[in-house]
Amino acid sequence: MRFSEFPNSKAMMILTCMDPRSNPYEFWNLPFGPAITRNAGGRATEDALRSMRVLSTIMANGENTLGAVAVVHHTDCGLHHGPNFSDEFIKGRLADRAPELAKEVEKMELGSFADVEASVLEDVAIIKNDPYLPKDLDVLGYVHDTATGKTREVFRSE
Ligand SMILES: [Zn+2]
Repeated sequence: MRFSEFPNSKAMMILTCMDPRSNPYEFWNLPFGPAITRNAGGRATEDALRSMRVLSTIMANGENTLGAVAVVHHTDCGLHHGPNFSDEFIKGRLADRAPELAKEVEKMELGSFADVEASVLEDVAIIKNDPYLPKDLDVLGYVHDTATGKTREVFRSE
């Protein structure tokens, strides 16, 4: 089932990038309002997982009401590996700002990626393997093309 075809009986969440060109309200003509989590790259970070865990438990007295999560990364993302946007580059800048915290900076994961499809699949796997999320959660993966405005599916749970 495609994300846009899910019934409105359960909550949905879109996880996507903070980039204004990656506008979750424009991906699909959804007949309902999904929950939206945005961060740099649309990555399945600990805080994104926290939001999914909360949403899947706070409604209906703890019964699972989170039906599906759509992970949507986009082309031309600032976190796509380039000369200026690798984790190492960003860490270098952060360590310049806070040299006393250089050891902490070294441990950071900033979420940069070399391949947009691979990053979607990586985050789909993280969400599917999260032990705190419902086993029947549908996790779908998409790449939004900022040049064409089209969103293409790269992973669908069967
Ligand atoms: Zn981005």
